[in-house]
Amino acid sequence: MSDKNPPFDRYSHATRSVICLRCPIGCDVQATVDDANNVIEVKGNICKLGREYVQTEVSDPRRIFCSTVRVKGGAKPLAAVWTPKPIPKDKLLDLARDTRDVEVAAPVHVGQVIIADWKGSGLDLVASDEVPKAS
Ligand code: SF4
Repeated sequence: MSDKNPPFDRYSHATRSVICLRCPIGCDVQATVDDANNVIEVKGNICKLGREYVQTEVSDPRRIFCSTVRVKGGAKPLAAVWTPKPIPKDKLLDLARDTRDVEVAAPVHVGQVIIADWKGSGLDLVASDEVPKAS
C-alpha cells in the first residue's frame, strides 16, 4: 500500500470524519487535523465550504439551540424558543438548564427576546412561537 494515500482512521487523533451541514447534500468530509486543530487536508467534500465547515467544527463547534419555555396564562402551556445565532456546543447544556427555569407571561410573540445577552455572551434566546392569552 502506498504512503501517499493511507487508509482513513476514524479514531486517530490526526483524522476526523465530519458530516458537512452547510447544505442538504451532507458530504462526509474526512479531514487531517494537526495538534492545534488546524485542518491540513480534506477529502470527500464537493465544494470549498466543506473545508470551512470542518475547520469551524474542529476548532469552535457551534449549534443553534432550540427548546421551549413555560407560558403563564397562555392558550398553550409552552412556547418554542431558539438562539438565532449558533452558540458554542459546550454551552448547550448550561443554556438548557437555564431555559428549563424560565416562565413568561402570555402573550408571547415571534421574535420576542426571552433571555437577553445570556450570561454576558451576547446571545439572546428568542421566541419562535405565537402564544396568545388564554380566553
Ligand atoms: S461540502 Fe459543499 S456540497 Fe458538500 S455538504 Fe458541504 S456545502 Fe454541501
